[in-house]
Amino acid sequence: MRLILVGPPGAGKGTQAVHLASHFGIPHISTGDIFRANLKGGTELGILAQSYMDKGDLVPDSVTNEMVKDRLNNPDVANGFLLDGFPRNVFQAEVLRAILAEKQTPLDAVLELAIDDKEIISRISGRRTCKNCGTSFHLVNSAPVISDTCDNCQGELYQREDDKEEVVTRRLEVYAEQTKPIIAFYRSEGLLISITATGEVSEISQRAIAALSAVIS
Ligand code: AMP
Repeated sequence: MRLILVGPPGAGKGTQAVHLASHFGIPHISTGDIFRANLKGGTELGILAQSYMDKGDLVPDSVTNEMVKDRLNNPDVANGFLLDGFPRNVFQAEVLRAILAEKQTPLDAVLELAIDDKEIISRISGRRTCKNCGTSFHLVNSAPVISDTCDNCQGELYQREDDKEEVVTRRLEVYAEQTKPIIAFYRSEGLLISITATGEVSEISQRAIAALSAVIS
């Protein structure tokens, strides 16, 4: 199963990606998580990415595409992968198509998590992320058992800098201008599956698994 998850910030890509990757037994590759891990580790890549992430802008394609190309050379993708947060524009989608064509491993599906604009802000403003393992929680929809503490690793939960309101507005603009066009791109390739991403987390996962299972059966 070679799969892409696409949807606006706050659509629940990270949360659904964890469920889907575990269900299909494939690695979850999140470009945002890779950038945040580099930031935490103080690497050159992390320092470069931070200036873009803090503003809600995209990290330059040259950097991001190389990073993904490297990641897709890792042997753990032999049975597939789930890409979360990549591609984020049509150029990245074209580069990905070329990388996969060279390996003769084309995509199976692109799953769009569709959500109303008004729900996005409420989702993002309630999101809290573990400083240690990166798991996302929501103060209302998916609250941790102990407040401000990660259920998985007891790490401290925090609000991502780019989840603060000023930056979210920019991220939504970037999504509308740069990322949304990839939906038409993948629709024209016959790869797009769209599901409504509102409701309980488990309900959305079931919807996603049913839609994807129909494609691969
Ligand atoms: P995310 O966790 O997917 O919301 O990503 C957080 C931030 O990382 C984005 O707002 C961008 O600044 C950066 N980022 C993640 N994925 C990409 C990508 N494919 N291309 C460029 N920048 C990205």
